[in-house]
Amino acid sequence: MNPIDAFPKPPFPRQPQPVPGLTSKMEPRPDHGETSYKGSGKLAGRKALITGGDSGIGRAAAIAYAREGADVVINYLPEEEADAKEVVELIEAAGRRAFAMPGDLRDRAFCESLVENAVASLGGLDILVNNAGHQQSIDSLADLSPDEFDTTFKVNVYAPYWITRAALPHLKPGAAIIITSSVQAFDPSASLFHYAQTKAANVAYARSLAKQLGPKGIRVNAVAPGPYWTPLQTSGGQPQDAIEKFGEETPMGRPGQPAEIAPLYVSLAAADNSYATGQVYGSSGGMGMD
Ligand code: NAD
Ligand code: MG
Repeated sequence: MNPIDAFPKPPFPRQPQPVPGLTSKMEPRPDHGETSYKGSGKLAGRKALITGGDSGIGRAAAIAYAREGADVVINYLPEEEADAKEVVELIEAAGRRAFAMPGDLRDRAFCESLVENAVASLGGLDILVNNAGHQQSIDSLADLSPDEFDTTFKVNVYAPYWITRAALPHLKPGAAIIITSSVQAFDPSASLFHYAQTKAANVAYARSLAKQLGPKGIRVNAVAPGPYWTPLQTSGGQPQDAIEKFGEETPMGRPGQPAEIAPLYVSLAAADNSYATGQVYGSSGGMGMD
């Protein structure tokens, strides 16, 4: 397979939709590995909580985790129920248990109850994927409202803190925590002043927490994707003229499809990757992390 030709290339149609965006409204539809991902028991019997598991990168991770043998809780916003329903069906089709737990991660009490409900439903927790994210492109600081700044930090920085803090008493040696950062942590766009800062915080989350939890046998890593074809981008994460040529600037000349990053999430959760902690893993079609 030549990776350059394996997935759709720009130009893409303009396709604005309200945040948080739905997969069904995307053209072309993203590929989350629905027809391609093959498991080999790497996560047999494991119990995973994935935020933002309804769509995009989180959906691809959820499908892969289930096909590798894990039971999965997904969190998402209530308006994403249609996307979440598809993911629940895919997890169950893989023969695993799926639990859909909608709710707004800007709410600390919800984050804490999400963890408690996930632990109760799964019968424990050993993989935590902090993947939900909020991104709106805003050209000028003058137009960046305090509410938008607050939401970006609540979803991207506070929620992983609240969720991880609630999860810690349940995590045993061998557990794995993954956070989804971004190339924006290293090479911030002018219009993503607020978002890029949260993704830099996600890098520090992984590097610090890995030091704290290493002695407990719990691994913590970050994934830093480049441009991936997901509703986050088409629902205001990029201006529509950038959606038309999304991914064109990478050496691959196209965006990544969520299916292409799922193997990283599997590997970082799997027991055989036992010395990998405190690291940041890129997947960005050749764009650097410097
Ligand atoms: P996505 O839109 O499919 O997923 C983001 C999810 O975040 C949504 O599905 C939604 O369920 C969740 N979310 C947002 N606000 C929420 C809230 N208030 N409460 C609960 N859930 C909320 O898009 P994606 O691109 O797969 O995003 C997943 C992660 O990847 C994000 O952290 C994003 O920052 C990161 N990322 C994406 C790209 C990219 O190009 N797509 C690049 C780098 C990093
Ligand atoms: Mg979604």
